[in-house]
Amino acid sequence: MTEPHLFLIRNIGTLVTMNPAREVLNDAWVASKDGMIVAVGTGPVPELIDDVPADRFGVHDAAGCVVLPGLINTHHHLYQTRTRAWRDAVDSELFRWLKTLYPVWADLKDEDFFRAAVVGFRELMRSGCTLTTDHHYLFPAGASPHLIDITIEAAAEAGIRFHPTRGSMSRSVKDGGLPPDSVVQDPETILADSERVIAKWHDPRPGAMVRIALAPCSPFSVSPELMRDTAAVARTHGLRLHTHLAETRDENEYCLEIYGQRPLDFLASVDWLEPDVWLAHGIWFEDEEIVRLGEAQVGIAHCPSSNMRLGSGICRVRDLRAAGCPVGLAVDGSASNDSSHLLAELRQTLLLHRVTGGAAAMTVNEVLEMATLGGAGCLGRDDVGAVEPGRACDLALFDLEAIGYDGADDPVAALLLCHPEPARTVIVDGIPIDIAGF
Ligand SMILES: [Zn+2]
Repeated sequence: MTEPHLFLIRNIGTLVTMNPAREVLNDAWVASKDGMIVAVGTGPVPELIDDVPADRFGVHDAAGCVVLPGLINTHHHLYQTRTRAWRDAVDSELFRWLKTLYPVWADLKDEDFFRAAVVGFRELMRSGCTLTTDHHYLFPAGASPHLIDITIEAAAEAGIRFHPTRGSMSRSVKDGGLPPDSVVQDPETILADSERVIAKWHDPRPGAMVRIALAPCSPFSVSPELMRDTAAVARTHGLRLHTHLAETRDENEYCLEIYGQRPLDFLASVDWLEPDVWLAHGIWFEDEEIVRLGEAQVGIAHCPSSNMRLGSGICRVRDLRAAGCPVGLAVDGSASNDSSHLLAELRQTLLLHRVTGGAAAMTVNEVLEMATLGGAGCLGRDDVGAVEPGRACDLALFDLEAIGYDGADDPVAALLLCHPEPARTVIVDGIPIDIAGF
């Protein structure tokens, strides 16, 4: 029998737990065994933790830090990290931006995909993220058919918890879609590779480091048949489903013209209005559509920077949450953000909703809840997103002595109100990651 991995983080100045009582603890400690939290407390560490002598735990000191549950990123396109601030797409809205970038992305090589993933993971972890998804729908004809595997290998190297989605595009311009032929695949190839990726990588166990989801790109780049067939494959294996929906008004017009339906009716018509689905953006919903989404408990990945950058609109996150939808936060792809800084995205969320609704329209605690428990809900996990026994030991440590936080009174609010500083470290699965070396 191998010895369990025992880890103790102590002297935590302020610990945001996100436990059911939403406790914020001072002078706190957290202990984990094989990556799962076994005890949380305040004051002196007891001699025995979970029946094990405390001196057998590897110790990490968090003096002067605010510690959050590791932040969860619910939508990304890591490959876009190679095409940030793209000259010809700087001032474009979504459809023109996509048409400009598709041919550029079609030329990306395997090493670009690996490099992009490494950069994206490092940026995410430096901003306090410990679990990210990746919506990878781009399989250029000249690149490896195993691009999902390449990003999973990069995630293992970085040490981040990872939910890659096997994405897809099957409907090119010749079939009435938006992307060119050079970046789409046929449905048979997509479904066969989905099965291969699931068999090779998907881990349904609590504390899993890798889980797969399936993710046709959008109503304007896949066929309704592929949406239905993908859902059937996902449900056979107990996987979650992800896609873009209701991002822009152009998409509404496209769906009405091509399908004779609004985007949500299209979603329902292909069996996707279900609790195993989370959607990126979810901006242009009517009141009655929000009620339907809430009843179905569909998750929403809110991407404020991307939505502002592309001028797409503002997601009604409070209405969606009130209706019953899990809402998480996300950086979106790095060609429309153009960064993977998740803590900065928390700040954008706070500020964006105050622009239209006043200072009471979004609180620091609501934003923190979306970035942790809300993200866990979108990804279908009850073993991450909070600091309490039974959940994975994923933590983000921010040093209050960093210059951007100097003079701050409320240490938790400082993380969102002050200009975001890099995390001092993140802990994933009970293992501290040396992000200073990134
Ligand atoms: Zn996206």
